[in-house]
Amino acid sequence: MAISARGVVTVDLAAVVANWRLLHDRHAPGAVAGVVKADGYGLGAGPVARALYAAGCGHFFVAQLGEGMALRAAIGPGPMIAVLNGFAPGADEDAGLMPVLNTLGDVARHRGRPAILHLDTGMARLGLDAREQARLAEDAELRNSLNLRFVMTHLACADEPAHPLNALQAARFAETAALFPGIPRSLANSSGLFLGQGFASDLARPGCALYGINPQPGGPNPMRPVMRLDVPVLQVREIGTGDTVGYGASWGAPRPSRIATVAAGYADGYLRSLSGRASAAIGDRPVPLVGRVSMDLITLDVTEFPDVVQGTQVTLIGGPGCSPDELAAACGTIGYEILTSLGPRYARAYLPA
Ligand SMILES: *Cc1c(COP(=O)(O)O)cnc(C)c1O
Repeated sequence: MAISARGVVTVDLAAVVANWRLLHDRHAPGAVAGVVKADGYGLGAGPVARALYAAGCGHFFVAQLGEGMALRAAIGPGPMIAVLNGFAPGADEDAGLMPVLNTLGDVARHRGRPAILHLDTGMARLGLDAREQARLAEDAELRNSLNLRFVMTHLACADEPAHPLNALQAARFAETAALFPGIPRSLANSSGLFLGQGFASDLARPGCALYGINPQPGGPNPMRPVMRLDVPVLQVREIGTGDTVGYGASWGAPRPSRIATVAAGYADGYLRSLSGRASAAIGDRPVPLVGRVSMDLITLDVTEFPDVVQGTQVTLIGGPGCSPDELAAACGTIGYEILTSLGPRYARAYLPA
């Protein structure tokens, strides 16, 4: 049998569901949605959403209309699918998706049609700003013409519990949301679910925590790990003391060494800035990266691993010492970027829920 030269991303759907249940129990009696934008943070929106829907999750959020249409086809007619970036004027309004209204123009275009209203309370990115909210406050007729399923806002600093903007945003949201009595409210993202009672709402919108990213950076991670990336060794070679490895000859062997070359690189989303800063894992033992990450290849020092041969599987992400959060910390980004960078050349495999 030919050795597959491709990496495989394995997604544990039971762990995704367990993470959703943990958040669901924390947030009760409020509901908990699944945010599956960017193809389920790189892990596959369709399989993730189908597993969550089967577990009782009835609301999903995507960023773009096209993502929403693909998800609707994957999951069927049951759950709400909301499009955070809204519908562009002239977009297909009948795709069975829920638009998020981000401007007064959106509001005017969607009178009478089911929608979610986004109030900007401190993010200055999407949603009605303070001036637009004041206009809405003055215009009862406009408000009454809306057919809202939720009013929502989005926290800017939920991963920093002590940040004063958190309470300020909650207060601003409560004030404007009061213009819509009886309309359910949606507030917390993953980290917001850990901010305490003042941040509970009718519908939380976690994304990263479902995928095992720590919603409380700096504290213990209450979430289960969800993904692993395994790639095969393509070649193993012996080098001598002082021999260098890879572009720029940036690493020289301090002793006679064995170097394993594996089939992934920055074109697959394994960030080049991890060069010289990260480890992978073979079984349960960390193995150091040496030399630069190149486009399609990564080199590892396997001197301590005499059993490594062509075809040995190396865990690049999701093993001991190389969780998405650990890799992110090593190269100055966040776990979200490690996941959403996972490239299309990897196969995707799913462990059932
Ligand atoms: C991405 C996003 C979320 C989910 O955020 P996480 O930090 O991944 O939990 C929730 N709401 C909005 C508006 C978002 O853009």
